[in-house]
Amino acid sequence: MLRSPICVVLGHVDHGKTRILDSIRGTVIMNKEAGGITQSIGASIIPLDTIKSVAGDLLKSLKMDFTIPGILFVDSPGHAAFTSLRKRGGNLADIAILVVDINEGLKPQTIESIEILKQFKTPFIVSANKIDLIHGWQEKEGGLLQQISSQSDDIQTKLDTKLYELVGKFSEYGISSERFDRVEDYTKQVAIVPTSAKKKIGIAELLMVLAGLAQKYLESCLKCDVKGPAKGTILEIKEVTGLGKTVDVIIYDGTLKQNDTVVIGTLDEPIVTKVKALLEPLPLEEMRDKKSKYKQVKQVFAATGVKISAPDLDKAVAGMPLRVADNQNAEKIKREIKLDVSESLIETDKDGIIVKADSLGSLEAMVKLLKDKAVLIRRASIGNISKKDIADAEVNHEKDPVFGVILGFNVLDESGSKANIKIITNDIIYKIIEDYDKWLEEFKKSSEEKELEGLVKPAKIEILKGYVFRQSNPAIVGVHILEGAIKSDTPLMKNDGKEVASIKGIQLEQENVDKAERGQQVAVSLPGVTVGRQIKEGDILYSAIPDEHFRKLKDLKKYLKKEELAVMKEIAEIKRKENPVWGV
Ligand code: GDP
Repeated sequence: MLRSPICVVLGHVDHGKTRILDSIRGTVIMNKEAGGITQSIGASIIPLDTIKSVAGDLLKSLKMDFTIPGILFVDSPGHAAFTSLRKRGGNLADIAILVVDINEGLKPQTIESIEILKQFKTPFIVSANKIDLIHGWQEKEGGLLQQISSQSDDIQTKLDTKLYELVGKFSEYGISSERFDRVEDYTKQVAIVPTSAKKKIGIAELLMVLAGLAQKYLESCLKCDVKGPAKGTILEIKEVTGLGKTVDVIIYDGTLKQNDTVVIGTLDEPIVTKVKALLEPLPLEEMRDKKSKYKQVKQVFAATGVKISAPDLDKAVAGMPLRVADNQNAEKIKREIKLDVSESLIETDKDGIIVKADSLGSLEAMVKLLKDKAVLIRRASIGNISKKDIADAEVNHEKDPVFGVILGFNVLDESGSKANIKIITNDIIYKIIEDYDKWLEEFKKSSEEKELEGLVKPAKIEILKGYVFRQSNPAIVGVHILEGAIKSDTPLMKNDGKEVASIKGIQLEQENVDKAERGQQVAVSLPGVTVGRQIKEGDILYSAIPDEHFRKLKDLKKYLKKEELAVMKEIAEIKRKENPVWGV
């Protein structure tokens, strides 16, 4: 038997996620023929019959046999909710709606959502929302397409332009998309449905496309045994008066009954406890005269949301797995859950940075994105940034300063002192990664520049005729820097490879200077050299780059000018006359 696919709504703040969810529910409730809606804990379930009656002929146009019982919408929108709804090997959401304000386009959290959806390979559709705010939009009769074609040509063009701007932006993120009625292949293109959550335009169409997507592409993965032992993910931990700590769980597989033994993942040993009560929300009309907002049920089956009251829930954390166990397999399930959790709380690489996040799901999402970028992670864990994290980061820093970094998603920095540790926090994962990349680039650049600073650089100089200021002890001669740069300790050699001396001092217009560059004429002092013996006027000298420096310079090539590289080549040719593998 197929279970209802689970749908999550994502997108940038204020683009209309909450309102889209409200108007999906509202549209369903308003439609009198509709078979209603089931409110569960943290989710609303819209049965297929209801979708059929809302979408009407639209659904028929898909020419599909529907076997899904309905769609479960997770009530809390946003990617924080999405990521916390993890399950082993993926995400709980089978499908998603990405809400984009058509007048604003893609914003940071939209991009974050795209990255996360791509990462979890979650199929999604786009609601191009707030079309009613397109300047000049007029309310008309009928369904979405009819409303669009009843607008003036100018508005229709405006809408199309905005849609194609979206299509263009999506393609920058590797997503091919198209207006839903123009999509040729739903497996290759993401459908965009123009909507107004406020005016309830395009909602039936959104539901239709979503149902089609769910049915067509998820059939195989939604097959599950609703009679088997339940599997779920913790959505939230809540204190309820009279009940104490309760967990709100989305059940994605099997049946959960009162008195069932459940195993729940924690940051260390999994909890094994017995379900005291299963609670569902009371229908609104009954809620008024009752003290409790919940009604007790004997059992629930996937896919649904339910509140569990049970002892020993203190250590429960959002995003953790929950499974029903019996006497025989409790230990085995405990081991499996522990393995699942520890795999996401990785302590993998020997060296690397530290990653912190607020929930198991967001941590896992972040670790995955970082691993894709080949970032080494020494420790990833849940919670705010503490003094211990700083201490660990300092150990990492000692091994290699590039690892002296803590990345934190949706967490507070409670560490106080920072010293030489780089801390990057944000509530948008991709911003953290972007900032980290920026920091890494700057860090690499500055350490390479420091390294370059310590190397003998390529230089080619000419001893000027008529500028011998002193013959010897030390010899002081005027030189012209033909290429590159010299410093006050640069060793020099002649064009036959013979080393002459290292420069002791440099004077530019009678002032001592540390270095001189291409085009300058300066006086240099050369100890242990006599003009007329080792060197003479008109000689061409090169910097005598040591073998090892030469190899490092090759690695740091990007910091050298074309002319400097040419001089390096000349130097290598001179050196290789004697040693053919010099600098290789
Ligand atoms: P969320 O942060 O993405 O959940 O956004 P909300 O659903 O809270 O919407 C943010 C604001 O935009 C609210 O004031 C909504 O009333 C408004 N809004 C949402 N959808 C529409 C729409 O289609 N048209 C108009 N005009 N306003 C909308």
